[in-house]
Amino acid sequence: MNRRPFVAGNWKMNLQASTALQLTQEVVRTTGRHRTVDVGIIPSHPFLAAAGHKLEGTRLQLGAQDLHSEDGGAFTGAVSGPQLRSCGVRFVLVGHSERRHVFGDDERIVAAKVEAGLRAGLDVMLCLGETEAERDAGETQGILEQQLSSATWKLQGEDWSRLTLAYEPVWAIGTGRTASPEQAEQAHAWARNWVQNHVSETVAGALRILYGGSVKPANAAELMAREGVDGALVGGASLKADSFAAIVSAAAGERS
Ligand code: PEP
Repeated sequence: MNRRPFVAGNWKMNLQASTALQLTQEVVRTTGRHRTVDVGIIPSHPFLAAAGHKLEGTRLQLGAQDLHSEDGGAFTGAVSGPQLRSCGVRFVLVGHSERRHVFGDDERIVAAKVEAGLRAGLDVMLCLGETEAERDAGETQGILEQQLSSATWKLQGEDWSRLTLAYEPVWAIGTGRTASPEQAEQAHAWARNWVQNHVSETVAGALRILYGGSVKPANAAELMAREGVDGALVGGASLKADSFAAIVSAAAGERS
């Protein structure tokens, strides 16, 4: 099945209002010409509305880094799906390893956030991945399956069309270490097989699975050339428009 590549830049807790807007403009300028790749930026919450204005009339998608599992109410400091939607957000990350490991988002919270995102009309990018110790213990496949099943057991057929997976081995995020193309291909195949066996062949065939973990211009093409690797979730390298644009070009099959 032909799946459209997706490259998204997770800016994490970086940049200031002015530099975030400048980067938004530069990403539009340097990636806006691509017709065969979906491109998204994921700024910090305070910059979303202004970035959304800059993206109006472009093909770029605005993403958010997190949401609360409730739709509104007395949750000081939290941001809900409907609030994100009202700022022009199209998709939201759920289960990023920094949320799981730094903020304690456990499987129950991740599942509730997946539901909250879908309920608000957002697409959800669900992040999965094993720690180094889990990989060394030979547990990677089991961890991916456990994360997938616990986050998606309540999804109905149509919900799956609004879900993207991001396989992000924890040991490769922000470390400069990347999974080998073989490791990425194998993990993507495990995740897709799980979906094929537990949901359907059609859903598994249409589902986009991105790779994330120290993707850079130098390794993007060989990772995304692998079977079942449908794009990239990019952290550090998305903070510079030229390196992010080079990764988008690699997803479009262009040589740099
Ligand atoms: C991420 O935060 O999702 C990520 C993949 O970061 P980095 O590219 O910096 O490893």
